[in-house]
Amino acid sequence: MKTDIHPDYQKTTIQCVCGNTIEVGSTKQDIRVEICSKCHPFFTGKQKLVDTAGRIERFRKKYEKFQNQ
Ligand SMILES: [Zn+2]
Repeated sequence: MKTDIHPDYQKTTIQCVCGNTIEVGSTKQDIRVEICSKCHPFFTGKQKLVDTAGRIERFRKKYEKFQNQ
């Protein structure tokens, strides 16, 4: 039977492409993200995720069409 099922939980740093770093407890090391609370459009007000919004809109229209059939 395996006894070593719990990975080491330690402090690690999440590094965002915007330069912001966040200290968290994680089993992973050197986490890199493309977006964080500092550069997320929800917090900055900038429209950086227009592409994502467009995809949601397209999905919604597709679903409406499906319902009307
Ligand atoms: Zn960021």
